[in-house]
Amino acid sequence: MEQHYTPPWIEGRFEEGIVLASLEQMLNWARQGSLWPMTFGLACCAIEMMATGASRYDLDRFGAGAFRPSPRQADLMIVAGTVTYKMASRVRRLYDQMPEPKYVIAMGACTLGGGPYFQYGYHVVKGVDLVVPVDVYVPGCPPRPEALLEGLMRLQEKIQGHRIARAPGQGTSAGKAEDQLPLPQRTGVLQLSEAPLVFHHQKVKPQ
Ligand code: SF4
Repeated sequence: MEQHYTPPWIEGRFEEGIVLASLEQMLNWARQGSLWPMTFGLACCAIEMMATGASRYDLDRFGAGAFRPSPRQADLMIVAGTVTYKMASRVRRLYDQMPEPKYVIAMGACTLGGGPYFQYGYHVVKGVDLVVPVDVYVPGCPPRPEALLEGLMRLQEKIQGHRIARAPGQGTSAGKAEDQLPLPQRTGVLQLSEAPLVFHHQKVKPQ
């Protein structure tokens, strides 16, 4: 049976080179292409983060090469390295000083769940998601720059799914998109919430 193509009503109404998009698409496109990370490294993983920003890998290709010296100018926190209990409150303070919308990439085994210090490192936080909300987890010890770039692209995908307006019946929870990927809440098989704390100071107090 012959099928007739019905063009959309908007097709052919404008000159060539004119692109139409919703405000939401444009905002998300601008945000995902201008992620400014905070200049902030905690341990050896930070060396890989620096390598990612150097010419060989060129973070600027993704619009994320402008490392800012102040959390007030940054919208991406890459937690790169071992988070000690002494440092945890500083990490949280820096996060609180960043303007919305803000994102967090947890980079490296130490950051994800304590890494090599998990069992005997009494001083290491067992996952930075106990301190700040994490958007993307990048595993490895250390993760290579390619892995961090992959994490950055996953974050960009997540930003593209943000909703500014809410659909009828969706409640008031507009904002960050639901995770499309099965992101772990903790690294490894041990669930911290089920494991007894060995020392009282392993508990991170909310600010
Ligand atoms: S995950 Fe490995 S490379 Fe990264 S901070 Fe920990 S020990 Fe260093």
